[in-house]
Amino acid sequence: MSIFNDHQKELAGKIADDVELKKWKDWKWQLRHSVRDIDTFETLLGIKFTPEERKNLDETVKRFPLSITPYYLSLIDTEDRENDPVWMQSFPSPSELMHAQYDMPDPLAEDRDSPVEGITHRYPDRVLFHVSNTCSMYCRHCTRKRKVGDVDSIPNRTQIQKGIDYIANTSVVRDVLLSGGDPFLLSDRYLDWILTELRKIEHVEVIRIGTRTPVVLPYRITDELVAMLKKHQPLWINTHFNHPREVTASAQEALRKLADGGFPLGNQSVLLAGVNDCPRIMRRLVHKLVKNRVRPYYLYQCDLSEGLSHFRTPVSKGIEIIESLIGHTSGFAVPRYVIDAPDGGGKIPVMPNYLISWGTNKVVLRNYEGVICSYKEPDSYKPVFCDRNCDDCKLQLKLDEADEYKAIGIEKLLSYDDDTYSLIPQDNERFSRRNGEDDDIEEDDQ
Ligand SMILES: *Cc1c(COP(=O)(O)O)cnc(C)c1O
Repeated sequence: MSIFNDHQKELAGKIADDVELKKWKDWKWQLRHSVRDIDTFETLLGIKFTPEERKNLDETVKRFPLSITPYYLSLIDTEDRENDPVWMQSFPSPSELMHAQYDMPDPLAEDRDSPVEGITHRYPDRVLFHVSNTCSMYCRHCTRKRKVGDVDSIPNRTQIQKGIDYIANTSVVRDVLLSGGDPFLLSDRYLDWILTELRKIEHVEVIRIGTRTPVVLPYRITDELVAMLKKHQPLWINTHFNHPREVTASAQEALRKLADGGFPLGNQSVLLAGVNDCPRIMRRLVHKLVKNRVRPYYLYQCDLSEGLSHFRTPVSKGIEIIESLIGHTSGFAVPRYVIDAPDGGGKIPVMPNYLISWGTNKVVLRNYEGVICSYKEPDSYKPVFCDRNCDDCKLQLKLDEADEYKAIGIEKLLSYDDDTYSLIPQDNERFSRRNGEDDDIEEDDQ
């Protein structure tokens, strides 16, 4: 398994004189020589677009800029580039300019759920912290396309400090997810500083880093980086492989270093039409991932961001893929398929249905083979009235340092110490017809 193959050697030769293996594997060299214009692309891959194609591409790049590392470029199958998953994820398509009616610049309302610049606080106990505004490769399917390229910069310490202060002052935050851009485009020293500051905050239990560098710039994962990260455990690292072709020898080497460093590794794929909307491709991908100690974490339905309509599949495609995985392969190789709901609704899991019917004390299920089974529930189950007063409880559930517990959402309806009996959307017509009774509506007291 040569990490620097003939094809790469030839490409490197066209990019710069006299490139030896050492330089090719230097992540800073890769960044300095990232391809950011169509001309260079044409030269390197020996392609010539027609004037018409060229005009469309220029317009696309003006709106959504282009950047590809030489490494990722070298994975493109030039014989069949139109169908190549690497090409499709990295090379602009004029379809990006076609906006569907329901497209939005910020479908996930990340900017609106932002208490201070750089932080998205959506879920009760964790925040997203944008620590970098730059990436080594601009994925064409980026959900934060609105931001790509406009401020291709690293936030300075004053800006980052504001985010750190917010986290320090918000004691419910036990999990901080560093994202961007790509946090691994920061220098080791800068990232070390951010991690050190976060580690000083007592209520921060877990830090996660989301990075695509193992896929598009695997040489970024150096021994020095791993040694620095190890000082800040517990640290979870999530990456973003979408296709088995991306799991190259170099990518595997990067994953090995991270796994040997002791970081639990996860993968977040995006379901993309023409790239991985196929049960066989996804099965191959998850198998390659677990073989490299990466746990498939999420499979995302493609967001409603602007310029992604050509990548979107129907939800049924995702369900079909999950159907082909559950039961058919190792449980830990199955990602959770989620739709990140517009307007900040968060990630909502979607699954094939396994519960077919339900009678008194009996559940009817079907398994992955289509075999229909029944499960007998107990004839008598004495429900325990739970008023969340654990001191009087007979269950061995006396959690140390129990937090004060407040149920939210659906959980509220299941709880016994909260007399909410329904959750009603704010603009429910039936309830707004009940003039004068509005006061009786149980409001979620969030
Ligand atoms: C995805 C996401 C998280 C993390 O969600 P998990 O389900 O815990 O992985 C946190 N905050 C925001 C805004 C997110 O989009």
